[in-house]
Amino acid sequence: MNQKVSKKILIVDDEEGIRESLKLVLADHYNLIIADSPEQALECLKHDKTIALAFLDIKMPQINGLDVLKQMKELRKDVKVVMVTGYKSVETASEAARLGADGYIVKPFKVEEILKAVTKLIA
Ligand SMILES: [Mg+2]
Repeated sequence: MNQKVSKKILIVDDEEGIRESLKLVLADHYNLIIADSPEQALECLKHDKTIALAFLDIKMPQINGLDVLKQMKELRKDVKVVMVTGYKSVETASEAARLGADGYIVKPFKVEEILKAVTKLIA
C-alpha cells in the first residue's frame, strides 16, 4: 500500500484532458483537488489550508492564469505554483517568475517533469 503524502496538490485547467493526465500522474501518491475554473481554484485555496502546491493553466476562458497566480500568492504566500502552458513564451515565463511562480511547464509535458516539480517543491 502506498502511503500518500498529506500535503494536497491543486490542479487547475479548463481542459479535461490535461486535468486527467495530471491526475493519472499524481493520484497514486498525492491527495488531489481538481478545479476546472480559476474561481473554483481560488475558493478551494481559501478553504483548504493543506494545499501546498498548484499546477495552474495559463490559458483559461475566465481569467488569465497569471492573474490567478497573483491572487493565489496574495491569498497564500506559501503555496507553490507551477504554471502549465501550451505556448512557450519567454515573456510569459519571466512575467510568471516575477509574480512568484515556482515553476513553468510546457504542454505536452512529460511524466518525469511533473514528478520532478512536485518532489522539488513539496518533498
Ligand atoms: Mg487552458
